[in-house]
Amino acid sequence: MSEIQNIDQNYVANTYARFPVELVSGNGSLLYGSDGKQYIDMGSGIAVNTFGIADPIWQKAVTDQLGKLQHTSNLYYTEPCARLAEMLCNKTGMKKVFFSNSGAEANECAIKVARKYAAETKGEQYSAIITLENSFHGRTLTTLAATGQEHFHKLFQPLTPGFYHAPANDLDAIKALADKLPTAAIMIECVQGEGGVNALDADYVKALAAYAKEKEILLLVDEVQTGNGRTGELYAYMHYGITPDVVSTAKGLGGGLPLGATLLSEKVQHVLRFGDHGSTFGGNPVCCAGAISVLKRLDNAFLAEVKEKSDYIFRALQGAKGVRSVSGMGLMIGV
Ligand SMILES: *Cc1c(COP(=O)(O)O)cnc(C)c1O
Repeated sequence: MSEIQNIDQNYVANTYARFPVELVSGNGSLLYGSDGKQYIDMGSGIAVNTFGIADPIWQKAVTDQLGKLQHTSNLYYTEPCARLAEMLCNKTGMKKVFFSNSGAEANECAIKVARKYAAETKGEQYSAIITLENSFHGRTLTTLAATGQEHFHKLFQPLTPGFYHAPANDLDAIKALADKLPTAAIMIECVQGEGGVNALDADYVKALAAYAKEKEILLLVDEVQTGNGRTGELYAYMHYGITPDVVSTAKGLGGGLPLGATLLSEKVQHVLRFGDHGSTFGGNPVCCAGAISVLKRLDNAFLAEVKEKSDYIFRALQGAKGVRSVSGMGLMIGV
């Protein structure tokens, strides 16, 4: 084990099973290790490095902003934050954005919005949030409660109460829960990442959205991993022709810097009022400048290219020797 690997093992909390590789630099889809080897990056830092490593356009956007102002606090206006919010709304039809620093925080905000909206419109007891089995929504105590995987819950009890899980692609299971629980919201990932890179059935998602609307239950879509072009649409829900009430995203949005965003539809745009929520770093100008440069490039031509590459990879892998199954959507592919 190298010196750096040794120091890391000794001093960094041992929550990750790291590969025995120390990465030093990179370029596009290539990474270089301290072992002198070149690696092909198939993971993009877990769906984060949207345009690869050290992308010159993204790097310029970030360093230009870094040369001007790195942080202000949310007591002041900055251009990157305002422009990014406007851009996200223009591209999705959502009306407002709350910025944070991670996927878990983006989901926390979505959950707070759902609970407050339900409390104000239906009554405070309408706090239940239904999510899917094998989902993943983050590591905070509330987003862990939302995560439908028991093994993450053990030894961290009590988690935030009020979360219930239904099997994916089973609308009756959701209806059975929602009929007996005072429900604020249903939260889904259109393609479950941790759950095995499985896209939800189109009929199910459409029927679920219609059911939620009919019952005045908010539909929250977690686009932390599926968002920002990864699946061939800007956000994966766009493949399904549904309109979520709240969309959370992070990972690829910042292109490599920490940034979370919770997008609020017309219905819930005014739920968060002064003092209801906040973040010291949320909407940081450097992170937002990077995100603007990412979003600008995720145009229709680029998304069409993602779909084309996806079709090619799916075709090439299906039935290939040693491949049992290929799943997912766009360039979010499980093999
Ligand atoms: C990664 C992920 C999260 C958590 O994001 P963090 O930035 O690690 O907090 C939440 N939801 C989904 C679907 C994810 O893939």
